[in-house]
Amino acid sequence: MRSLDDFAMEKLGAAEARGERRALVPTERLEGARVRRGAREFVSFSCNDYLGLSQHAEVKRAAAEAVARHGAGAGASRLVTGDTPLLAELERALARLKDTEDAVVFGSGYLANIGIVPSLVGPGDLVLVDALSHACLLAGSRLSGAREIRFAHNDLGEAERLLRRHRAEHRRCLVLTDGVFSMDGDLAPVAELSRLAGAHDAWLMTDDAHGLGVLADGRGSVAAAGSPPVPLQMGTLSKALGAYGGYLCASRPVCELLRNRARSFVYTTGLPPAAAGAALAALAVVAREPALTRIPRARARAFAAAMGLPEPQSAIVPLVLGTSERALAASARLAEEGFLAAAIRPPTVPPGTARLRLAFGAAHTEEDVARLAAALARILSDPGPAR
Ligand SMILES: *Cc1c(COP(=O)(O)O)cnc(C)c1O
Repeated sequence: MRSLDDFAMEKLGAAEARGERRALVPTERLEGARVRRGAREFVSFSCNDYLGLSQHAEVKRAAAEAVARHGAGAGASRLVTGDTPLLAELERALARLKDTEDAVVFGSGYLANIGIVPSLVGPGDLVLVDALSHACLLAGSRLSGAREIRFAHNDLGEAERLLRRHRAEHRRCLVLTDGVFSMDGDLAPVAELSRLAGAHDAWLMTDDAHGLGVLADGRGSVAAAGSPPVPLQMGTLSKALGAYGGYLCASRPVCELLRNRARSFVYTTGLPPAAAGAALAALAVVAREPALTRIPRARARAFAAAMGLPEPQSAIVPLVLGTSERALAASARLAEEGFLAAAIRPPTVPPGTARLRLAFGAAHTEEDVARLAAALARILSDPGPAR
């Protein structure tokens, strides 16, 4: 269709003009933190594989064994015939790690969030959400039809004022936040939010995509906050666990409700056996090797110290550079030195805060980190034409 292609080209052109057009780059992941793009190899600081488990021999073997035993795909939705036995085992392992009664596994973290939120609130209800929460929490909120109010990032005072003012006008209320913020690496004040939500009969839900496997010996952001009551603890199997899939850890009735009601659970094919097998093996590594889970943060801390940045709270360190052009130029200069650090631009981050988002992991050596810091110090102090 002519009008359709015209529409697509116009939108792409506008994104290009803003410096926000993006393109896929085929990337082969090699051993450790190295990746290959075309003929070039890099040390990557843009993978969320914090523990290197996507390349771990035991995890890969578990994925292969799951395929040999259960096949390549689940064949149907979980409520029909797609409930591979590995999934119940995986849900038990997640509940054990998070110390909850039960857990429910989804096809991805994104699918989890767009299924969970609309299952719990709808028109007439209230969603209070941290303004910097991940896109899929915001998508779940929008999809629910509840009234959504965003509070300024980590602003407990504003969250409390909003609850005082608006909670009573609504039936049910959800408070949503990332546990570790994906683009800034800072932590939500989970203990305080838990107290606040409890005082206002609101249900707190944390997204632990970047906390699981990294904080509190791998147990994540709620445990790192001292394990306050958080009735809805969501996360992904796709980052530190190196596999694929999403989950919610919660009480038995809540998990059972979601298995019945979340549309992104009911109307989609079950997680493939390979992903379930890999995630199970990865969880076993996390449970067995707390020392491994401490490395990503140690590397992030060493980098921040070398750069004179504040101490990071997670494995993520943002280097906010302002314009998209500036972030792209810094990323290109790093690539020349053999480092992959993707420029993160609007709309993923607010306008004017384009950045390099550096993710540290157990596969990075101390030397990788020192070399990255030295290269960045050179690049950022050079007022050359590239910028
Ligand atoms: C990556 C991410 C998700 C989505 O998880 P997937 O399993 O990749 O779909 C959700 N929330 C946050 C905070 C994330 O960073």
